Amino acid sequence: MSVFPIRVYGDPVLRTETKEVGEIDDSIRRLVADMIETMYDAPGVGLAANQVGVGRRIAVFDPQDDLGARVMINPRVVHTEGEFEMEEGCLSVPGYFWPITRPEYAVVEATNLEGEAVTYEGYGLIGRVLQHECGHLDGGLLLDAMVKKERKKALAEINRESMGL
Ligand code: ZN
Repeated sequence: MSVFPIRVYGDPVLRTETKEVGEIDDSIRRLVADMIETMYDAPGVGLAANQVGVGRRIAVFDPQDDLGARVMINPRVVHTEGEFEMEEGCLSVPGYFWPITRPEYAVVEATNLEGEAVTYEGYGLIGRVLQHECGHLDGGLLLDAMVKKERKKALAEINRESMGL
């Protein structure tokens, strides 16, 4: 297994919608194992394939319940409910945390590594991670979930930093 370098804000792969996975073969299983290792090494609670430069609709996350990492192949958010604000960060925008309002509860339908249909759902951190990772796979970033004014402020912060001011 190996740890991938994580792509950061500005890399076009993060803004590219990923492609659905067909057959789950050894190369997919290897990719998933490496993504899990990369997520724990970072450390993070979720990671999408395009964050490591692979344009496939795959994400992993760890709901912090001691049962280990979950695999989502071709995940889609099928239901959300409520609304709440939470400090949210992203391994691809390292060093920043912003209060972001999103639905409180989310349900995701996906396939697991065995090719079986699985449903992941949860409130709080889990609901947040599910939405965050599916956002990545659509070519999104957490900045997109912010209201316009907050997004402008966040972008100014990132740009100031990257210009070394
Ligand atoms: Zn992220």
